[in-house]
Amino acid sequence: MSREAIEKLYRTELGITKPSEINLIEVAKHLGVTVKQRPLKGCEARIIGVNDKAIITVNEESPFTRQRFSIGHELGHWLKHRGAIGNLCKSESILPNRSSLNKVIAGREKIANEYASELLMPTYLFSPHIRGSDVSFDVIESIRQTFSVSLSAAAIKYVNHCEYPVILACYSSTRRMWYHKSRLVPQWFYPVRAIDKCSPSYAHALRGDLPPLVGLVDADTWIDAPQSENYEVMETVWATGRGTYMAFIWWENEEQILRSDEDNDDEA
Ligand SMILES: [Zn+2]
Repeated sequence: MSREAIEKLYRTELGITKPSEINLIEVAKHLGVTVKQRPLKGCEARIIGVNDKAIITVNEESPFTRQRFSIGHELGHWLKHRGAIGNLCKSESILPNRSSLNKVIAGREKIANEYASELLMPTYLFSPHIRGSDVSFDVIESIRQTFSVSLSAAAIKYVNHCEYPVILACYSSTRRMWYHKSRLVPQWFYPVRAIDKCSPSYAHALRGDLPPLVGLVDADTWIDAPQSENYEVMETVWATGRGTYMAFIWWENEEQILRSDEDNDDEA
């Protein structure tokens, strides 16, 4: 089922015209799928289905947004492999991710995660929501609230659709796990390979459950590119709850990007 097919399902069959009307349990019911919330051990969610009926069970002990993403993920399995299906999905498989750059998650799990993202934030409602907004952490926060998703799921969808140079990178305490750049970031720009412990937003995130800190830092704190030490970027870091940290980086002043493109043109 494509993006267009999800739009058709939502608009024509379910009459969904705004994000608050997206109830994944109702969407599931429409697709012949019953959703149960139960305590689960050893997996985050599962689906068992035969012919045109299936049952999804999600871990009721997980946070609300996590359960929603899990239902979307299992529906993804159903839409893709409807017929006979039995899947146990581990917590580490059900993640909003930039599929091509996350080598940890296997093929069908990636596809299910992409379905989850589109079911929760259908593009026909998402694009108008961000249209006309300048880049900022407030936009991500507004997506999180409007679509009832995690900050990370909101940020990944935003990076895919925004018209600004922005980078989202996921780090463990020792190294970069994966990253995702919007299309306006020059291809020779990379997020640094390990978190710079001097980042105020990272230090703030380490202190626990506080709203993320947004601030201006030297670009070389985050960006591995020529002349980074001469420019600045905006940073926000938050904990994902799985021992990793997400960094959302953007340029308030895009001179570094513009200069870099010029330099590259000169060399070409
Ligand atoms: Zn799965």
